[in-house]
Amino acid sequence: MSRNESPGILYPPASIAVIGGGQLGRMFLQAAQRMGFRAGVLSATDDAPGAQVADWSVVSPPDHLPGLRRLSEQAEAITVEFENVSAPALRWLAKRRLVRPGWRTVWVSQNRIREKSFLKEHQIPHAPWRAVLTAGDLDEAIKALGLPLILKTASSGYDGKGQIRLERAEDASSAWSSLGNVPCVAEQWVSFHAEVSVVVARGFDGSAVTYPVALNRHERHILDSTVMPAPVGPIVSMNAQSLSLAVAQALGTVGVLTVEFFLTEAGELLVNEMAPRPHNSGHLTIEAAVSSQFEQQVRALAGLPLGQSDLTRPAAMVNLLGDLWADGEPRWDAAMRSDPGVKLHLYGKRTPAAGRKMGHMTVLDPDPEIALARALAARRVLTAR
Ligand code: AMP
Repeated sequence: MSRNESPGILYPPASIAVIGGGQLGRMFLQAAQRMGFRAGVLSATDDAPGAQVADWSVVSPPDHLPGLRRLSEQAEAITVEFENVSAPALRWLAKRRLVRPGWRTVWVSQNRIREKSFLKEHQIPHAPWRAVLTAGDLDEAIKALGLPLILKTASSGYDGKGQIRLERAEDASSAWSSLGNVPCVAEQWVSFHAEVSVVVARGFDGSAVTYPVALNRHERHILDSTVMPAPVGPIVSMNAQSLSLAVAQALGTVGVLTVEFFLTEAGELLVNEMAPRPHNSGHLTIEAAVSSQFEQQVRALAGLPLGQSDLTRPAAMVNLLGDLWADGEPRWDAAMRSDPGVKLHLYGKRTPAAGRKMGHMTVLDPDPEIALARALAARRVLTAR
C-alpha cells in the first residue's frame, strides 16, 4: 500500500477514484494520472467521458451496493464529481475508505432547502426564500417575497432545469405543478449586476486556498463563458473569497468547493448556490493557474498539501455546447489557425445535443477582457461556413 506513515495521506501510485464519469470526473482522473496515481471511476456507462480515460472503471449506478463494494475494494480514497450521490452511500463508503468531501458537505449541497437553511444558520448573505412543501406555503411565499419570484425544485436541479420564474399569483399552482409539485424553494427575484463564483480548495488539516473571483455569463441558464480574474474591484473580490472560505470551513469540506454568487447593483454579494466539487467556472485553471482545481481535488483527496492557486495569467473560457454541431462537425482547424493561443478541451461525448456540454476552450491573455474576446472569436470561427 502506498500510504506514508501519517494517517490520511496517500502517495502515488495509490489507487484513488471518483464517483461519476462526466467531464468533471474525466479532468479529475487526468490530473490524478499526471501525479502518478492509479485513477478509477464509478461510472454509469463504460463509454462515459471519465470511463474513457480511467485506469480502471466500475460500471454501476452511483448508489448500488454491489458497485460501491467493488469501488471500495479497488480505491483507497474516493471523491465525487457531482452532488447527487446519496449520503447513505457515502457514509457506507466512508466506513471503509477515505471519502472526501465527507457526506455532510454533499448532503447539504444536494438539496436547496438544506443549503439555504445552512446559509441562514451561518449568516452567509443570500436572497430571501421560503421552503415550499404545500400549495399554502407557495401562497405565503408570494406574500412574503413578492413577485416575480423563482421557484426551484429542492433537489436534482442543474443548468436551470427544475426551475421556473413566477410572475403572477394566479399562475402559482400551474407553475408548481409544472415542477411536479415536489418540495421546492421559492426565492426572491434578484436583479443582479453580475454572477461570480469562487473555487475553494480545503485540505484535511483545515488549510484552504481560493482562486481569484470568476465572472460568469449564462445563456439559457447554462454557463456560456468565464473570465478570471473578474473585473470586480478589490473589496468585492476579498468579500467573495472570504465568504467562500467561511462556507467551506463551516461545512468542514475537505476537497474542492465552489460558491456561486449574485453581485447586485449595490455591490452586495448573495450566495446563489454551492457545489462540493470543481466547477465549470474553474476549468480555465488547468492552463491559467499554478495548480488547477482538479489537481487541488487530487491533493486534498490524497491528504497532500494544497498547491498554489495563483493565476500565472488572466484567462477566459467559453463552453462548447452540442448546438455547435447542428450543421456538422465544428471546424477545429479553422479556430486553431485563427488563434494559436486557443486551448481546446473535448470531453469525448459521442452524441452532441442542444445544451449538452461537449467541451470548452481557454485563452490566456494579459488582459482578461481580451482573453474573452479572443475565446468568443475562436468559437465563432468553429461554425463559420
Ligand atoms: P441556479 O440553478 O440556482 O444556479 O440558477 C440558474 C440561473 O438562473 C442562475 O445562474 C441565474 O442566472 C438565474 N437565477 C437563479 N436564481 C435567481 C434569482 N433568485 N433571481 C434572478 N435570477 C436567478
